[in-house]
Amino acid sequence: MPVDKNADEEDLKEDVARSRATDFDCPSCSANNPVESALRDRDEISCHYCGAGYQVRINPEGRMKLKEL
Ligand SMILES: [Zn+2]
Repeated sequence: MPVDKNADEEDLKEDVARSRATDFDCPSCSANNPVESALRDRDEISCHYCGAGYQVRINPEGRMKLKEL
């Protein structure tokens, strides 16, 4: 069996991808849209002004992107 290297104990955070953002700026019309609860990865949202729909994508660094549906 392979011998595992010494596993240095790193302080790895196991945060689920999410943000604390409670609003987003619509990429289409630039309107600021408040949301009821903090946006999470894979949430689907839509702009209240122009109706464009987006899926929330949050990368491991916590940066949020909106992917047009
Ligand atoms: Zn919009």
